[in-house]
Amino acid sequence: MKIISINTGSSSLKFSLFEMNDESVIASGLFERIGMEGSCYTIKFKGEKVFQEVELYTHTDAVKILLDRLVDLNIIHSLNEIRGVGHRLVHGGSKYSTSVLITDTVIHDLEEFSDFAPLHNPANVLGIQAFREVLPDVLMVGVFDTAFHQTMKKEAYLYPVPYDWYKKYGVRKYGFHGTSHRYITNCAQKILGRDDFRLISCHIGNGGSICAIRDMKCVDTSMGFTPLAGIMMGTRSGDVDPSIIPYVMEKEGKNASEVLDDLNKKSGLLGLSGCSNDMRDILAQVDVQNEQCILAKDKYVRSVVNYIAQYYVLLGGVDMICFTAGVGENSISVRREICEKLACLGVKIDLDLNHKCGEMVKISTDNSSILVYVIPTDEELMIARDTLQLIGR
Ligand code: AMP
Repeated sequence: MKIISINTGSSSLKFSLFEMNDESVIASGLFERIGMEGSCYTIKFKGEKVFQEVELYTHTDAVKILLDRLVDLNIIHSLNEIRGVGHRLVHGGSKYSTSVLITDTVIHDLEEFSDFAPLHNPANVLGIQAFREVLPDVLMVGVFDTAFHQTMKKEAYLYPVPYDWYKKYGVRKYGFHGTSHRYITNCAQKILGRDDFRLISCHIGNGGSICAIRDMKCVDTSMGFTPLAGIMMGTRSGDVDPSIIPYVMEKEGKNASEVLDDLNKKSGLLGLSGCSNDMRDILAQVDVQNEQCILAKDKYVRSVVNYIAQYYVLLGGVDMICFTAGVGENSISVRREICEKLACLGVKIDLDLNHKCGEMVKISTDNSSILVYVIPTDEELMIARDTLQLIGR
């Protein structure tokens, strides 16, 4: 049975087509610059890569071409083989705590929650509508980034601000990367062979969040009302004192959304280093003693360590720490530095094992008080699994 996982952005559509019998990826790819000049697509399958520039006025154009190409390229024989479409949906507000079959109500709710995720939710709706138009009889499932975090208690998700803001406007912590943290939790369950464990999942990529998990459920997470909160990221500041915003507005003659834009797009690694949001560039500059890059890397490590330490106490000890996403899966030195700073908690890693990248590997030593793993995340597979489960019902 084949399931397609979809991640729609405002001008892009990413897909992975799975054969669910063995959970293998048959094809994957990206449609880019939809509605803009220079639109194009890339489809990868069986070790081949097809790239083409093509006019894509709407997301529906992208979906039509995608499905045509899957058949033309003999990746599938007919569209009937696609039994379900799973959509990555960014914001489900306080309403969605699990994945759901997509109905008119879900689409309406996504529109309703667009205030919370103005860039993502409307794009997600475009993706859903495009597939509805082209594959009207195929069941679709929505997998929310926020859903996994719905198990947080009020004392975790509320901010200490006027309670009315929560009641009237939904001001609270929602958390993101939930699909990735849930995937990591499921892997930890398989590794440990039980459900009753305490886990800190570190999804550290260009965006990043840390999640405290007890008995397979989210207890707290670092991202907040929006993905701007929490650890320092590629271009996002993470937690800062909100008083900075009006102060900089006045100094630079900017409005609130311009300063917020600076915090989202010009801060983090990019802001402190002044040269790049990519950890690879930062580390290359660290090697040649670039002081700004050393500062950016040190601040990054510190911000991750601070959250791990906080969640260690919150959980009353930890059984496993997992690293995932671009930096977590690939950066030997960042992982090493984080773990070295956790030595006071009894964390010890094997420097040779820590050299492995791109595969699931235990990097802690046998006498480490906490298991430390690197686990490549797979949000697309999680979406496909949820889709299969829900359409099967
Ligand atoms: P993601 O958002 O999960 O795709 O992660 C992207 C980020 O991972 C990039 O911006 C890089 O900073 C980082 N990254 C990828 N490969 C490496 C690597 N080999 N060493 C250090 N950082 C890496």
